[in-house]
Amino acid sequence: MGIKKKTIKDIEVKGKYILVRVDFNVPMEEGRVAEDMRLRAALPTIEYLIDLGAAVILCSHLGRPRGKYVPELSLHPVASHLEGLIGLGVGFAEDCIGPVAEKAAELLEPGRVLLLENTRFHPGEKKNDEEMARQLASLAEIFVNDAFGSAHRAHASTVGVAQHLPAVSGFLLEKEIEYLGRVVTNPEKPFVAILGGAKISDKINVIRNLLSRTDSLLIGGGMANTFLKAQGYSVAESLVEDEVIGTAQELIDEGGRRLSLPVDVVIADRFDAAAQSRVISKGSVPDGWRIMDVGPRTIDEFGKVIETASTVVWNGPMGVFEFAAFAVGTNEIARAVAESGAVSVVGGGDSAAAIKRSGLAEEITHISTGGRASLDMLAGVELPGVAALQDI
Ligand code: AMP
Repeated sequence: MGIKKKTIKDIEVKGKYILVRVDFNVPMEEGRVAEDMRLRAALPTIEYLIDLGAAVILCSHLGRPRGKYVPELSLHPVASHLEGLIGLGVGFAEDCIGPVAEKAAELLEPGRVLLLENTRFHPGEKKNDEEMARQLASLAEIFVNDAFGSAHRAHASTVGVAQHLPAVSGFLLEKEIEYLGRVVTNPEKPFVAILGGAKISDKINVIRNLLSRTDSLLIGGGMANTFLKAQGYSVAESLVEDEVIGTAQELIDEGGRRLSLPVDVVIADRFDAAAQSRVISKGSVPDGWRIMDVGPRTIDEFGKVIETASTVVWNGPMGVFEFAAFAVGTNEIARAVAESGAVSVVGGGDSAAAIKRSGLAEEITHISTGGRASLDMLAGVELPGVAALQDI
């Protein structure tokens, strides 16, 4: 890939009106920001622009309002939270386009910040509507995309607006594409990838691309079940995708010794936090039971491979980590990745949360703020939000 895009350091931003697409799609609870990793991740760009006296107009989506106003999905509480983080008042405009937004942008002073209301309150956002893009662009002189978590989508506020203004990346987007780009194009070897999560079907291209680049691909989580079934084992009540068993078989053949599956698993008699559980070696799962986590020998074997790595990338939990009894595999892999000393890139909310719970987040080279966007990068797919920015 070798993606080289202009950033806010490559252009004159001093005193300019700048529209910054951020990813403030954060979890909310009772009208408050419940988790603010994505807000914190956008701070370097926002603070850099403020320091240079730019008028910073932020826009983002939140949730899925389906093109209409939904009070619970207003970004208003996010503006208050952001004020606390930057220690500066943050204005709020109750619409992202039209007279309300135009007036607020006009009144915005240099060195100050304005947050626009949820872009997805307009149906034009997801349709990448030309008129909506034009109206967004009319608010500013420069467009900065720092919304990595939304860069896989060609929407009005990510791609459309970039057709109308000089468009460059913010520091977060730059960092994301640098690290994720580097692991897929130019990883220091040995390169070990760990994939988990529920399904193979939405990660087939990731598996294919990684198989052609990694020295080892370790597979756990629900997606391992389909591989195990492809190898002829009964997985009983386990989550499995029968429709891609053929593909799983192809991937096993293609991967050869580079692809590792669990050698033992934790099974449960029902899908429940308090289910009865036991460990079985690779083999058939008894009738009525289901695979919930990777077993201790697998943790050990995967750990040994991770220890040897110079580059590690990890996406997706190793088991049903939402239940403490089945979170051991995920937590242990988090620890192994953190302690590996390798260049480590972790993507996906569940894996990132596991790393944080391990208390070793500082040891990770890069924790991605994007779920699907980071998977697309690992699959070698160009992100439209990135493609729309100016090349160096
Ligand atoms: P994904 O969004 O594809 O990364 O999948 C995350 C989900 O996979 C989590 O909610 C886990 O509970 C689920 N998961 C992981 N391992 C298993 C498993 N063995 N059986 C069922 N679900 C699983």
